[in-house]
Amino acid sequence: MTYHRGHPLTVARHEALLSRLPPSEAQLPVDTRWLRGRAELFRQAAERPFALTFDTAWYAEVTGLAFHPHYVAQVYRGEPGARLETPLMVMNLSMVPTRGDADRALAHECMHLRVPSYGHKREAFACAQEILDRVGSLAA
Ligand SMILES: [Zn+2]
Repeated sequence: MTYHRGHPLTVARHEALLSRLPPSEAQLPVDTRWLRGRAELFRQAAERPFALTFDTAWYAEVTGLAFHPHYVAQVYRGEPGARLETPLMVMNLSMVPTRGDADRALAHECMHLRVPSYGHKREAFACAQEILDRVGSLAA
């Protein structure tokens, strides 16, 4: 699910997610190598597998979903009744300038993998924060 230009409450809840990276590190730019390592921590913290791509055109092609240039990230679990063993997550590198932004996006999409039925409810974002906290412990 995408959240950019979503409901104002969803945007506020997303922005309130707190990365456990030290502030100086949270401001650093991301690269794909860092993101792939970080994604592994999120897999462990969320206890959910997922593949990660940065190729938004390819993602749109294989999922059949529109991925607009202003989208930040999305995760595709397959169709109901035909779920993928390994969901596919896409991240739009131009929309995650810092490591802190990337942490929030990873937590948001992992939350959809863990509690898909929660949508963007408060409880869903509580789960996303738990995942961020667990990543913080794993990284420490
Ligand atoms: Zn979402």
